[in-house]
Amino acid sequence: MGPSAPGEKAHAVCLPAAFQGHIIPMLDLAKMLHARGFHVTFVNTEYNHARLVRARGAAAVAGVPGFRFDTIPDGLPPSDNDVTQDVLSLCKSLTETCVGPFRRLLAELNDTATPMGHPPVTCIVSDNVMDFSMEAARELGLPYVQLYTSSAISYVGVRHYRLLFDRGLAPIKDVKQLTNEYLDTPVEDVLGLRNMRFKDFPSFIRSPAPDDYMLHFVLGIAERAVGASAMIVNTFGDLEEEAVAAMEALGLPKVYTIGPLPLLAPSSSISMSLWKQQEECLPWLDDKEPGSVVYANFGSITVMTNEQLVEFAWGLAKSGRHFLWIIRPDLAKGDTAVLPSEFSAETAERGLVASWCPQQQVLNHPAVGAFLTHSGWNSTLESMCGGVPVISWPFFGDQQTNCRYQCNEWGVGMEIDSDVRRDAVADLITEVMEGESGKVMKKKAQEWKEKAVTATKSGGSSHRNFDALIRDVLAPSR
Ligand code: UDP
Repeated sequence: MGPSAPGEKAHAVCLPAAFQGHIIPMLDLAKMLHARGFHVTFVNTEYNHARLVRARGAAAVAGVPGFRFDTIPDGLPPSDNDVTQDVLSLCKSLTETCVGPFRRLLAELNDTATPMGHPPVTCIVSDNVMDFSMEAARELGLPYVQLYTSSAISYVGVRHYRLLFDRGLAPIKDVKQLTNEYLDTPVEDVLGLRNMRFKDFPSFIRSPAPDDYMLHFVLGIAERAVGASAMIVNTFGDLEEEAVAAMEALGLPKVYTIGPLPLLAPSSSISMSLWKQQEECLPWLDDKEPGSVVYANFGSITVMTNEQLVEFAWGLAKSGRHFLWIIRPDLAKGDTAVLPSEFSAETAERGLVASWCPQQQVLNHPAVGAFLTHSGWNSTLESMCGGVPVISWPFFGDQQTNCRYQCNEWGVGMEIDSDVRRDAVADLITEVMEGESGKVMKKKAQEWKEKAVTATKSGGSSHRNFDALIRDVLAPSR
């Protein structure tokens, strides 16, 4: 089976990785393809499909004409709880169990014996994490494009793990080796990256086990991506030009930068929040002064100790600012998060604590003056799109690299030490909200916002790259 006849509608199967931060950009891309006339099949895991129904009702996955949802199992034991699945177990399970169900799904979609109601599959757009799909696409002779949902700098960082091995910096022998001095070791002459230290590489490199699963998993998927027909990155030319050039120099096929996706994607009724959003966050912001609120949110995967949570709480309290703090039900390790009762009493007038919010709208609200973030890539881009400076507390993976660039290269942020202390939180909030460096960061964030808007407007680099992606790879015969 290959691309269908000229004139027949193209059919893209979009396969996101089963994490919130991967589903959102894939959905944006799928909407963009749908708006350009593609029939879209969007493939969630059964677990996430059930969660979407719980969070947003059956309408969330009902689809619209020409855009349908399908599912494959994630291979983990069934669960009715809305929890953040363990990253390692999920990556392992998806890799080991999904290729069969995915192959069967493609066969069903192409089964001419049953009335299809849709054109045959003509291309596969897969998350880089779901790279088992490459084999299935190859068997059908279909164009196979991967979406890399993190930054180009983090991709290049992972590809340079081998450089760190060659230079004897990794694998480390023992976690005790990871002193501040070791983490700060400069790593020079790294193609595509600037001013790197050991700690700025995606954090899987910090494992002392030479055969660490996640280290080899992320390296493996990054290296195997050279076999794709093309690579899409949710970024834009001005922001990561050097790293994108390095991706191609490292052997990837053509890289199409088509971000920030939220600015290019058409608005539609389809949305994919795995947690129920608390809409009251927006009206709460409405009566606050412009730039007066600190917005704190550590994304969908970060887990902290209760002690760290308490330090953040008192840091927010001591800052004296209004704040909107999103505490996911499973943000704190072990049990649910427990905030000191004195904190809640002291800040009741100026703080709102919620469990999940419409983040993009929050970051675009004029009341928000700073973003306390873990620097996940979507959050990084969304804060730029809102022109909001950040205070960054990277948790794991690519967030280390994103944080380094936010603070050191893009001029939009300041970092909090991993051993977070309340005074440091309060001081950084004060600096970003009213200090001289805060003003400079705010200005920089506004400049990046303008560049992002330019890239995604008609004639802008991301806009043109999306056209080229369709013309050259996804639907060349149409
Ligand atoms: N998000 C949201 N509401 C929340 C928290 C997060 O809508 O309360 C969205 C956020 O806008 C972003 C995604 O979830 O698009 C999180 O992705 P990111 O890459 O920032 O971090 P991850 O969750 O993957 O660590």
